[in-house]
Amino acid sequence: MIAGPELQSLVSEIAADMRARPDRGRVADYIPELGAVDPSYFGMAVALPDGTVAAAGDADTAFSIQSISKVFTLTLALGIAGDRLWKRVGREPSGSAFNSIVQLENEKGVPRNPFINAGAIAVTDVILSGHKPREALGEILRFMRFLSDDPSITIDKAVAESEQRTGFRNMALANYMKSFGVIENPVEFTLGVYFHHCAIAMSCRQLALAGRFLAHSGRHPGTGLSVIQAERARRINAIMLTCGHYDGSGEFAYRVGLPGKSGVGGGILAIVPGQASIAVWSPGLDAAGNSHLGRIALETFAKRSGVSIFGA
Ligand code: GLN
Repeated sequence: MIAGPELQSLVSEIAADMRARPDRGRVADYIPELGAVDPSYFGMAVALPDGTVAAAGDADTAFSIQSISKVFTLTLALGIAGDRLWKRVGREPSGSAFNSIVQLENEKGVPRNPFINAGAIAVTDVILSGHKPREALGEILRFMRFLSDDPSITIDKAVAESEQRTGFRNMALANYMKSFGVIENPVEFTLGVYFHHCAIAMSCRQLALAGRFLAHSGRHPGTGLSVIQAERARRINAIMLTCGHYDGSGEFAYRVGLPGKSGVGGGILAIVPGQASIAVWSPGLDAAGNSHLGRIALETFAKRSGVSIFGA
């Protein structure tokens, strides 16, 4: 992959182009606090194994990572439960919206995959079991700080409270799963942890650094420590590719060709296996709830640098 000044100038050029575009998508207003975010932001950061980062635009402004947190909770839950996790959640694309309730009834309360809301709530429940909500949340936050080598990362309490007040659909999903025994803990505890980990605030730079272990066989390149087994990192990438953009996953694979995970805060984390971890942020979303310009920026980056996993 390109590196050094060539990489930096591509990232700067993409950020300038995206900043200037009038088509920005729509911010997620179903979480009131996110509805107030200015859609003119655009940030991008590409983290290489040696820890160098090519960054541009608003790459150092923190935003709500929302569903991107689900990649990291999945990593933690696999570490806790191993393959037993797959009894509680599937790994097939859903073909429906991230907050859809329809499949749960047919599939007896077992969500399609760990990245739709129902699946992520089940994953959070695995992390919570045996702990107090505060401890589980602390564990998730410590993990994010460790991965990005940055102890300053925090939770945006206003966003968490905003969702806690209005997250009726997620409450419905959690209660429904509870009726099938898929959720072990009191639903209000599981949802409390879920809403708070979705409300972790990070910049593109921090997020790109945090994703490096997925590009490097499960190893944290900074310390060389193993975050997760190589096989599991590979599989998380596979689920990101097939399910990371909900009902837009096919389109993302077609246009970008990288494992990726989006969040309704407008961020996307994309992995170039063996090479780099990329974070982009533009708050406006497309109809499937994925960052409109974030996807276009990654498509441009993949094309210009030739990093699609499907070939240049
Ligand atoms: N916290 C959000 C929700 O549960 C996450 C959704 C998303 O980012 N796609 O609705």
